[in-house]
Amino acid sequence: MTTPSGKAPSPRFIPLCVPEIQGNAWAYVKECLDTNWVSSVGSYVDRFERDMAEYVGARYAVATVNGTSALHTALLVAGIGPDDEVLTSTLTFIAPANAIRYVGAWPVFIDADRLYWQMDPEKVVRFLDEECRWRNGRLYNKTTDRLVRAILPVHLLGHPVDMDPLREAAEKYDLVIIEDATESLGATYKGRMVGTLGHMACFSFNGNKVITSGGGGMIVTDREDWAAKAKYLTTQAKDDPIEYIHHEIGYNYRLPNLLAALGVAQLERLEDYIRVKRRIAATYREAFARVPGITCMSQADWARSIFWMYTVLVDAERYAMNSRQLLRRLGELGIQARPLWQPIHLSRPHQSAPAYRCTVSEELFQQALSLPCSVGLGPDDQAFVCEIVANSNE
Ligand SMILES: *Cc1c(COP(=O)(O)O)cnc(C)c1O
Repeated sequence: MTTPSGKAPSPRFIPLCVPEIQGNAWAYVKECLDTNWVSSVGSYVDRFERDMAEYVGARYAVATVNGTSALHTALLVAGIGPDDEVLTSTLTFIAPANAIRYVGAWPVFIDADRLYWQMDPEKVVRFLDEECRWRNGRLYNKTTDRLVRAILPVHLLGHPVDMDPLREAAEKYDLVIIEDATESLGATYKGRMVGTLGHMACFSFNGNKVITSGGGGMIVTDREDWAAKAKYLTTQAKDDPIEYIHHEIGYNYRLPNLLAALGVAQLERLEDYIRVKRRIAATYREAFARVPGITCMSQADWARSIFWMYTVLVDAERYAMNSRQLLRRLGELGIQARPLWQPIHLSRPHQSAPAYRCTVSEELFQQALSLPCSVGLGPDDQAFVCEIVANSNE
């Protein structure tokens, strides 16, 4: 057998980041199948919501069909609407920017910081203080004259955003904070769980996240009215328990019980998975410590990172190969790697949205490469990846 390029396939394949199914997954899913409770309501949906609220330390949790729908719903619940503006990270997966557009609002893209690659809090504050104007108790973007309503920071790659400056600014200008915590379940900021650092937070249980329900999402909040509104909007906005009477346009964003069952079982394993992720990170850090031109992702002293997607920067001059060349070399050896996302302010659908001094994110995009970091990554496979990365520049 040969690959399309005509070469014999490599016998080894080390995937980037795949699910790890363990523990009670089979028992819980089987129970759904045995009892016929497979669809959009059921005890596992309720339990997944309770367990998530408890784990994160939020009062309420509302399950959704995926993380993107959680973000869309959270924006609706917060009352963000047409021609409002929402500050968000430019260096991230595109979902939060798309969700902002779903409600007719505009993202304002904020750059990443050089150290932790998160939304730069200094640039957030500078944008709000210098580029916006406070008028009649509301904040307007001076350039677009649109209302600035919210901040949507993305806790990227398992590491929290430096939230205190954002929280201060939000207080000062009466802004809503919606955390995109989809990549960072279990991470902490100054001892506090990600997901409790703003007014609402969204999680994802997509297959490549630290735990998965196959697909799924969750909104958490301390506000009872917002939780109720989220449940209402995600279940077709039904206003009568028996009659099909609707006072608003709702969505079918429900998480099936079958998937919630898997989610419950995965959540039971989460702390163990985070320990493994952190060990994988420590091993990479050690292995690359003296490799010229490779910079490892780092953890702030105010953070516990879950190192969701282990990523390094490749300095083309010092490493003698750029990140994309290394990507290809790894691929030839059966090692799946991946660049980070194109900064969203450069993407075609979001080019016309405001972007504030997004220079660092463009550099990071050129240099970043994510390496295999599945919970199930074996020590031999990781050692192989380390060896190849450490020696490819020779
Ligand atoms: C994964 C992810 C989401 C949500 O993804 P879904 O696939 O819809 O669950 C949202 N934002 C970011 C930054 C993500 O990485």
